[in-house]
Amino acid sequence: AKALGKARYELFNQEMYTNALARLQLENDLRRAIERHEFQLYYQPIVSLTNGRLIGFEALLRWQHPERGLISPTDFIPLVEESGMIVEVGYWALHEACRQMQSWQVRHRTNSLEKISVNLSVKQFSQPDLIEQIGEILHSTGLDAGSLMLEITESAIMENGDEANAELLKLRKMGIELSIDDFGTGYSSLSRLHSFPISVLKIDRSFVSLIDANGKNLEIIETIITLAHKLGMDVTAEGVETKEQLAFLRNLNCECGQGYFFSRPLDNTAAVALIGYCWRI
Ligand code: C2E
Ligand code: CA
Ligand code: CA
Ligand code: CA
Repeated sequence: AKALGKARYELFNQEMYTNALARLQLENDLRRAIERHEFQLYYQPIVSLTNGRLIGFEALLRWQHPERGLISPTDFIPLVEESGMIVEVGYWALHEACRQMQSWQVRHRTNSLEKISVNLSVKQFSQPDLIEQIGEILHSTGLDAGSLMLEITESAIMENGDEANAELLKLRKMGIELSIDDFGTGYSSLSRLHSFPISVLKIDRSFVSLIDANGKNLEIIETIITLAHKLGMDVTAEGVETKEQLAFLRNLNCECGQGYFFSRPLDNTAAVALIGYCWRI
């Protein structure tokens, strides 16, 4: 028993050691990434399902790592969250998205590009100076608050309870629009969300991907869309990949769609070329 205990103890220590090292390595990499501009934003079109027009983009982080190549956010966001550096990285992304959107609006003198959507992590959302930071970003980039949509997950809102609602109200008063991200993956109820100042509900891709598969799950989507509409929210469907999914969603009067059917996330050169574009739907 003693030997086993010792082995466990050593294993534990070794794990701690490698984790600590890995963490240190990652933190170094992340600091360097910010300094050396290794982060990039990609932009995925959000399309009106009424008329096929491009109405906005969701800004999505990419990490161009010098040795490991282009890293997807699903591979590094959890680590960045854990290390606490998500706050810094998140503000970098927000600033960059606002700067880009402002320059597109000026260059194209257009109001056809209505919104830039940016993801806000749980940790960022619970920062005490959130409102000041966002105000400062809008001020320094010159972007109109009405052109910014912040995407917040159900769990971020539920974890922060009443405080979350107060923060959301402040953001809303600034003129920023709010959407609830990945809806259906958390445990919140639409009736609770009703009390929050949220104008758009984004249905998670996992539901949209079920559309061709079987009738039962179709009812879930139908229920979500109908309830959201009753509560005065617009609905954006994530992960639209097929024309059958598109037809089904249009039939339920889902306002907007996003997904590979329209476009993958694009770098800024490819994104700007789509401003004013209209898909034939
Ligand atoms: P998300 O907010 O749910 O973003 C949508 C994800 O679905 C993106 O993955 C997008 O590329 C992918 N996607 C869009 N359409 C389709 C489709 O038709 N089929 C499939 N299979 N996938 C589709 P991505 O870019 O890898 O981002 C993953 C997640 O990382 C995001 O999920 C978001 O939670 C997080 N993330 C990305 N950028 C940021 C950021 O700046 N800040 C924070 N806090 N999180 C971010
Ligand atoms: Ca999102
Ligand atoms: Ca999402
Ligand atoms: Ca999702």
